Amino acid sequence: MNNAIINFPEPQNEPVKAYLAGSPEREALDAELNRQFNTEVEIPVIIGGKEIYTGDTGKVVCPHDHKHVLATYHKAGEKEVEMAIEAAMEAHKIWSKTPWTTRAAIALKMAELLATKYRPVLNAATMLGQSKNIYQAEIDSACETIDFFRFNVHFASKIYGMQPKNGVGNINHTEFRPLEGFVLAVTPFNFTSIASNLCMTPVLMGNVCLWKPSTTATLSNYYLMKLYKEAGLPDGVINFLPGSGAMIGKVATSSKYFSGIHFTGSTTTFNSLWRQAGENLGKYIGYPRIVGETGGKDFIFVHPSADDVKAVATAAFCGAFEFQGQKCSAASRMYVPKSLWPEVLEWIKKFASEVKMGGVMDPHNFINAVIDEASWDNINSYLDYAEKSSDAEIVVGGKRDKTVGYFVEPTVIVTTNPHFKTMEEEIFAPVLTVYPYDDDKVDETVELCDTTSPYGLTGAVFGKDRLAVEKISDDLRYAAGNFYINDKPTGAVVGNQPFGGARASGTDDKAGGEFNLIRWVIPRVVKETLVSPTDYRYSYMK
Ligand code: NAD
Repeated sequence: MNNAIINFPEPQNEPVKAYLAGSPEREALDAELNRQFNTEVEIPVIIGGKEIYTGDTGKVVCPHDHKHVLATYHKAGEKEVEMAIEAAMEAHKIWSKTPWTTRAAIALKMAELLATKYRPVLNAATMLGQSKNIYQAEIDSACETIDFFRFNVHFASKIYGMQPKNGVGNINHTEFRPLEGFVLAVTPFNFTSIASNLCMTPVLMGNVCLWKPSTTATLSNYYLMKLYKEAGLPDGVINFLPGSGAMIGKVATSSKYFSGIHFTGSTTTFNSLWRQAGENLGKYIGYPRIVGETGGKDFIFVHPSADDVKAVATAAFCGAFEFQGQKCSAASRMYVPKSLWPEVLEWIKKFASEVKMGGVMDPHNFINAVIDEASWDNINSYLDYAEKSSDAEIVVGGKRDKTVGYFVEPTVIVTTNPHFKTMEEEIFAPVLTVYPYDDDKVDETVELCDTTSPYGLTGAVFGKDRLAVEKISDDLRYAAGNFYINDKPTGAVVGNQPFGGARASGTDDKAGGEFNLIRWVIPRVVKETLVSPTDYRYSYMK
């Protein structure tokens, strides 16, 4: 029996590779892109390690070339969800008792495999299936996913080391038990890393999982399953269930063994899952852990003292338009003093005139496609609305076309109405709405920024006057769970900026930090008395 106390010191973040033409990483990626583009994969349901082809299928296409089919996936039905619960509970018997250092070794092996052999595989699948350019794929499906594996092992070691003190004549310890049933991981399309992390964080802490991947990210998520298997994750610990979220959610939350949900996606979906769990509360072995990160209406607030206007415009451009604005943290509303707005707009126009939009195979394209037709139609309806409104004007971009791929130009709407629809509602698109405000109305505009949307995910303030910035930061303390000073509101890095928001943006359990791991354990405290007393009387009675 291994009795070593193994140290897992804080790791370094995985370096982002440059992918310069002719570099080994670029050649490996190009070869893999070609392979995946020319292969139609058949993706099964995976339960207890067994591949199941249900015959009820859907297609995975390239969002930027939607006639091109990348994969056919088989959908789980109610029967498969029940089978997955059984397989997970069978795996629970072993996995929940597996030494945590063994679980850590498997997670660290996943990191090493992804840093090497699987790097081009996951990056290519994320590029083709989710329409990310090389850089956006590299920071997500490679670096962030690797960071989650490595940092979570370090965080777990800190948690397991959090032990109570001993009393006189007794020894105490805390056993961080995994939850008694299974965790349902329901994952979004926009980050392969989040999809991986929502399963692997509970799993690292000894839990078993039912995984409902996002339909539009099924290809990269399937390759994650292959990576997990190769790293030695036992069968049944994660059960892969593509299919209808509503059905899978309903069956899973009806099970006695439902012990938690790890969710990222829209607020509406999370609310419906929470409601279902609430309705079934009496059935469960224990109170389920409900952890969810949801929508955002993320802002940039520019103070009149912000003198580096180009930096403001760069933050707005990258924060709003990278990955087509489909980051939960993407800037989608901006408050700019009227004195600065003309110059900020000039810079944004210049950047927009320089960037190219198109498929992911051409490395010159900064902008790719939005995820699917439903999303494109939704964005289109917002832009139609803006075009017809008297209190708003599209001043940059605005063109959209779904003939070949689901393309929307980086778009800036300027409005005179701080409550204009696109200042308030999440669109999840490359659309930034700007409200230029009177320079002498900073406090009133900060108040507007705080109260305009129900969300509280990310926000940024720009300004040179550090005391003014401090006041704005204080006034907006509940408006964002991740707050940035003189930076864009996107790009959180594991271990550096643990991520999540409150209000309608979620439970703020901070992925990429140790708080999240604690949600997946139910601690048991054990006191051992060395010599048990044999006299019931208090000493003064003697
Ligand atoms: P979504 O809510 O449409 O889907 C998320 C997942 O839920 C998918 O797997 C989907 O199939 C499933 N689902 C859909 N309906 C369901 C139902 N009725 N019951 C159970 N599951 C169901 O979200 P999305 O479009 O994949 O992602 C975009 C959203 O995610 C945005 O709102 C964005 O802000 C949010 N997001 C938040 C964070 C964060 O950290 N706060 C990170 C990424 C994305």
